[in-house]
Amino acid sequence: MTGPMKYVSTRGGSPAAALGQAIAEGLAPDGGLYVPQALPELDLAAFDPGGTLAATATTLLAPFFAGDALENALASICAEALAIDTPLRALPRQNASVLELFHGPTAAFKDVGARFLAACLCRLPRADHRPLTILVATSGDTGAAVAAAFHRQPGMRVVILYPDGLVSPRQAHQLGCFGDNVHALRVAGRFDDCQRMVKAALADQALQAAVPLSSANSISLGRLLPQMSYYAHAALSWWHQHRTPLNVIVPTGNLGNAMACLWTRAVGLPIGEVRLACNANATLPEFLEGADYTPREAVATIANAMDVGTPSNYERLRWTFPDDRTLRRLLKANSVDDDSIRQTIVHHAREHDEVFCPHTATALQQLERRREAGDEEHWAVVATAHPAKFDSVVEPLIGRTLTVPPALAEMLARPSNAEPLAASDDALRDWLRHGNR
Ligand SMILES: *Cc1c(COP(=O)(O)O)cnc(C)c1O
Repeated sequence: MTGPMKYVSTRGGSPAAALGQAIAEGLAPDGGLYVPQALPELDLAAFDPGGTLAATATTLLAPFFAGDALENALASICAEALAIDTPLRALPRQNASVLELFHGPTAAFKDVGARFLAACLCRLPRADHRPLTILVATSGDTGAAVAAAFHRQPGMRVVILYPDGLVSPRQAHQLGCFGDNVHALRVAGRFDDCQRMVKAALADQALQAAVPLSSANSISLGRLLPQMSYYAHAALSWWHQHRTPLNVIVPTGNLGNAMACLWTRAVGLPIGEVRLACNANATLPEFLEGADYTPREAVATIANAMDVGTPSNYERLRWTFPDDRTLRRLLKANSVDDDSIRQTIVHHAREHDEVFCPHTATALQQLERRREAGDEEHWAVVATAHPAKFDSVVEPLIGRTLTVPPALAEMLARPSNAEPLAASDDALRDWLRHGNR
């Protein structure tokens, strides 16, 4: 039994909020990120070893939902949102496995968080009867996952901002193919611009009074918390078979997926070492190797969903590990350049007949470096997207066409449309006040 759980801001300047409120608000009023007052401790014996992902999530998230208006709906939220396979699949001859997180409707791990967030928001009572606008900045996969999760949900509208020309053609098509209550805006800027514009809109009280807004970026607790469930599920099944903790390599951009992994370990699930794999955007690897933390503009890479120079969950990382030395001891990260990503994709296709997306390849490249350093441990490499989403990168490297998963194929067959938008905070404000509603 646990008491009610309250949520506070990483900046310490906002009153404690209930979970439902924290999920509805996205960002805390002082501009910080919501975190639980304290992380709960879970007892492994509470989990059903043969349970589904949804069952694992219901047990894992119960203390996070304790005392909230959504508490009684937790099991149904998990059942609705987490009916997705997240298998831990062995990689033969490599003493490694892949945690496949791309079996949802848009073929990337972001489906898990987006569907859970939608299931929560649709169940939260709202005094305001105007539609709620979900604002989302995306470097590719988030927007499609959020659009799919909220498409045609009554009382909900989705506005997606993405950097024009910096997402793959297939991703762009997916973002614009929903229509109805989903609007895609292609921004003349980078992902960091999109993210800044969304933050500015969410922090603008006058705008919020005119247009009720919520966020769906990886800062939302409604996305972060459910992402813990696949780590818990995989670690428990590994534990039951091997009685050892599961070591994990997480491809990282905004630190949402990685924070979920670190919190899963922190609440007592059997996760061993955690390593982050970044693309050429090396803000985190440099910091973890001892440099000052230097947020910066993102550079474009072929693992574009990780093109982040200013990881939005950094404040949560520091709330979890306030001491630099402890953090640097516990968490390692590497940066992988585009050439190494390409080589890794080619190597796995040739040697192992396995095709991976460029993001997953950053993590596989880390595994190769661990092996070169003499590490013989078992590692689980997190596979964040299906390679067919990144056909323009992957197919020329492997010299053949990839089969598109059926849900993705269905989206690609629909017409697609996006509106242009300048990369300024005011342009987004204006669009939200006067744009096509
Ligand atoms: C979003 C995304 C990432 C990065 O996840 P974060 O939570 O932002 O660190 C990695 N790979 C893919 C395919 C993604 O869509």
